Amino acid sequence: MHLTRLIYVSRRNPDVPTDLEGLLETSRRRNAENQITGALWVDGTYFVQVLEGARHVVSATYHRISRDPRHTDLELVSCESVSARAFADWSMGYCGDTRSNRQTILKFSGHDQLVPGEMSSSSLLSLVQALEVS
Ligand code: FAD
Repeated sequence: MHLTRLIYVSRRNPDVPTDLEGLLETSRRRNAENQITGALWVDGTYFVQVLEGARHVVSATYHRISRDPRHTDLELVSCESVSARAFADWSMGYCGDTRSNRQTILKFSGHDQLVPGEMSSSSLLSLVQALEVS
């Protein structure tokens, strides 16, 4: 298996409300079936998602997600072969917009709001790994 890690960022679509619980429930179920792991940052503006798993499955999942009307302006940050998973315990960990996570964002980026376009792929990955996941 070619273990692959893909990171993308997108903007929430203000015209299509997102039921986060439903989104996480579907994502976790589908990802568990596909042996995908990862994490999802959500605030009022952005999604940042890390997907890890077999290359063909990560690719198919990303293409399905990219057609979802709940977000727009998808930007592929990175897609690379890796030797180990960073989120092995999470079929999709949720990184919420909490005070503690904002402090972590401040340490990484100098802002207390995430501006994904200003961060490199490695900084984004390190940031998501440092966030509280639930
Ligand atoms: P169906 O459930 O058959 O839906 C058909 C269409 O409607 C699809 O285009 C779907 O995207 C869209 N849709 C589904 N529910 C809603 C809704 N509540 N409101 C508006 N449109 C809707 N899926 C995963 O499997 N793994 C993930 O890690 C994952 N992460 C996601 C992250 C984000 C930020 C978003 C927005 C979606 C994510 N999804 C994820 C969901 C994914 O986009 C699909 O909705 C889901 O995988 C079901 O796909 P389906 O083809 O069976 O669509």
